Amino acid sequence: MKKLKFNNSFARLGDLFFTRVEPSGLPNPKLVSINNQAAKLLDMESADLSENWFLQWASGNQTLPDSDPLAMVYSGHQFGGYSPQLGDGRGLLLGEVEGSEGKWDLHLKGAGKTPYSRFGDGRAVLRSTIREYLCSEAMHGLGITSTRALCITVGEEPVYRETVEPAAMLIRLARSHIRFGSFEYFHHTRKRDCVKRLADHVIEQHLPELLVETANKENCYLEMFRHSVHSTARLIAHWQSVGFAHGVMNTDNMSMIGETMDYGPFGFLDAYDPDFICNHSDTGGRYAFKRQPMIGLWNCNALANALTSLLSVEQLTMVLEEYEPLFFTTLLHLQRQKLGLLEQHPEDQSLIDELLALMAESQVDHTIFFRNLCSFDENNDNPDLRDLFLNRGAFDHWAKKYRDRLAVEQRNLTDRQSSMMKTNPKYVFRNYMAEIAIRKAEDKQDYSEIDRMLRLLQSPFDEHPDCEEYAKHPPAWSQQLSVSCSS
Ligand code: AMP
Ligand code: MG
Repeated sequence: MKKLKFNNSFARLGDLFFTRVEPSGLPNPKLVSINNQAAKLLDMESADLSENWFLQWASGNQTLPDSDPLAMVYSGHQFGGYSPQLGDGRGLLLGEVEGSEGKWDLHLKGAGKTPYSRFGDGRAVLRSTIREYLCSEAMHGLGITSTRALCITVGEEPVYRETVEPAAMLIRLARSHIRFGSFEYFHHTRKRDCVKRLADHVIEQHLPELLVETANKENCYLEMFRHSVHSTARLIAHWQSVGFAHGVMNTDNMSMIGETMDYGPFGFLDAYDPDFICNHSDTGGRYAFKRQPMIGLWNCNALANALTSLLSVEQLTMVLEEYEPLFFTTLLHLQRQKLGLLEQHPEDQSLIDELLALMAESQVDHTIFFRNLCSFDENNDNPDLRDLFLNRGAFDHWAKKYRDRLAVEQRNLTDRQSSMMKTNPKYVFRNYMAEIAIRKAEDKQDYSEIDRMLRLLQSPFDEHPDCEEYAKHPPAWSQQLSVSCSS
């Protein structure tokens, strides 16, 4: 047996940054699922995972030696309005664990009330932990920076939402749990010294190379901010390229180091629809798919504001101006890859824009189209693609342009196809898939679909003949599904 060894660098920042809270454990806990890939990141062996201490720990009933559980304080802009006091209301930072691929923050979600719970019960329901567990691993499988998930446990405690639901806990791994909102909290409560200490902590823990490369301290802060802005721009370009929408892009859900985090009401596009709103509670469409890039910049502005005690307005503005060009260059690069294009030609942007406009008009499934495009044959009509469009003539017109553009490169067909298959996933985590796994888990205590989807989503570019149904168009009943903030 090898228990985890904790370090607690965040706890050493002092109690202005958090409140120490012991988890309140789930009664009669059971393991729902364990992610062996994440266990490996912590150098855990499979024998560890079946030990009783693991179950007791993962369900909040036992704190491991050296772990120093705490609820982090932060604030944030929620749907555009400032909420001065948020913080970990239903999760605890357990500490950091060093694995062979580096250090991870371990966070126990659903661990009970904290001083930041406001009106909440501090619990997570099974449904929402399954969604986060599978989606964070799906994002990682797609090559997109994300928090990871180690395991889910469930316990015999009722949780009251719209109905009574089972209580569950999730262990999340993140490179950092520091959010834009962590800085906003200290800035808006006028604790300038804490803004500085938090920035020093982010640099020491996550960007130590800056200490070597950068001659003076102020430049370190500037580079830290640049890192946040750039990694946010790149992250959202990646989201857009796979049709992912984060349902609650509030600044308290934005990672300082650009990891996708806090999965609530997220959604992958089925039909391509720039106006897609994945969160039922987002009545104004603030976080509609097409607005996410702009909201990313808005959030970086809120972070800039929180750093005005460290950096001048000129410095902050200069870095903010880098967001848009970087976002567009990254997205165009990813879109070229999706189309199998290696070279950069000025007309590429209009080729892509035209395609997306046609897809929107015909409500073409985003994932299926791009996966089928991998088999585009310059010498025939490509019925697998053509039949996805209502306006087939318009598709033919676009396909001719695409054919001409491909001809310019003279790229070997197998080479192009194999690289496209690594860029255009066959599987994404559609909401109806989550619903299937949730129904089985809640109604029958059958967790097998979670494990099956985990395997599938961790390698979404590969063929999975036993999961072919998940590569098809979503079933009609999935149209009625809605997800909202209440989990
Ligand atoms: P989220 O939208 O999940 O990122 O949560 C926003 C804020 O509400 C955070 O401060 C959470 O900790 C808090 N919160 C969400 N759900 C609960 C809950 N069930 N109990 C206590 N706090 C919660
Ligand atoms: Mg959150």
